[in-house]
Amino acid sequence: MAGIYIHVPFCKTRCVYCDFYSNTGSIHEPYLHALLAEMALRKNYLDGESIDSIYLGGGTPSQLSIESLQLIFDNLFRIFAVNSDAEITIEANPDDLDEKYVEGLRQLPFNRLSMGVQTFDDEALRFLKRRHTGSQALDVVKRCQDAGFTNMSIDLMYGLPNQGLSDFDENIEKALALDIQHISAYHLIYEKGTKLFRMLSQNEVRPVDEELSVEMFSLLIRRLKEAGFEHYEISNFARNGLYSRHNTSYWQGAPYLGLGPSAHSFNGKNRQWNIASLNKYADALKGDKLNAEVEEQTPAIRYNDFVMTGLRTMWGIDLLRLETEFGEKMLNYCLKNARRHLRTGLLEQRKEQLVLSSQGIFVSDGVMSDLMWVD
Ligand code: SF4
Repeated sequence: MAGIYIHVPFCKTRCVYCDFYSNTGSIHEPYLHALLAEMALRKNYLDGESIDSIYLGGGTPSQLSIESLQLIFDNLFRIFAVNSDAEITIEANPDDLDEKYVEGLRQLPFNRLSMGVQTFDDEALRFLKRRHTGSQALDVVKRCQDAGFTNMSIDLMYGLPNQGLSDFDENIEKALALDIQHISAYHLIYEKGTKLFRMLSQNEVRPVDEELSVEMFSLLIRRLKEAGFEHYEISNFARNGLYSRHNTSYWQGAPYLGLGPSAHSFNGKNRQWNIASLNKYADALKGDKLNAEVEEQTPAIRYNDFVMTGLRTMWGIDLLRLETEFGEKMLNYCLKNARRHLRTGLLEQRKEQLVLSSQGIFVSDGVMSDLMWVD
């Protein structure tokens, strides 16, 4: 089973915190030509494996017209063997989803919709330079559900400047009232190169303190669990087993083909990433070439990926698989470094799985880095 990720590098405007690659222009034609050329060029990348998930992310995929999306699907289904029950997701922004557009999406093969809500607080939305209001997001989720989308996810952010615990609680309350199946929740990060990072450097914004961050994360976990969500990955929660297939395959080391500028791919042997420039990406594809970098996967790189992605999830590190894929030496290395965290209760061993405990999840970065292989 394999996946396809398509990066759509367009946004109407840029949000202050975002470091994903995207352009604010709307010159979609060269992008579409290049994307279709890349599909044809890399049709054998996955060795003919059938496609179990397709994910359109960005950027803002909902900036593409319904006709452009149809063109992408016509080519995807012609070139790749897409399973009839594949999970097909579009990331969308609330301000793009008017009735006509939602109707259009329903005519396409999408069966999952992931919406960038971030917060329902209008002041915070303005600060983040989002383009919608809280009530608009609520209406749009309902509109999509009424149109027949039964598998919906929203993104939430916490740890926003000036956000208190009760503000975040209100946000969770509103999210839970939506009857959605999946929530991804991320702490605000001050990424280098973003407008937000510059604001921080100039003391124009004050991050929330660490104690409050931890309280918010605890509240999130408690409230979502009480509402029937499984906390299946550090930042992801799902109801009724509706985990994101795209992300889960990535965490479980399945191969995927990433199309579009800045998209990453993995074929089981090496990782590669396309250049993060629409012009350079499209220029190379005019000559049927891909402008990309490849990273050969040494056993140490693969082991570190395996440990890190495994620990992020509720399934943890599969010790039997670790031994089969990396040998006894790396298994023993992992167990030796895990020992003290097992003693202090940050890690738990459940049969052949090594998982973060409910306390360990709060210090996951430290635990992971202790298990990393250092040459
Ligand atoms: S957060 Fe989403 S909409 Fe905002 S700039 Fe980044 S990719 Fe674009």
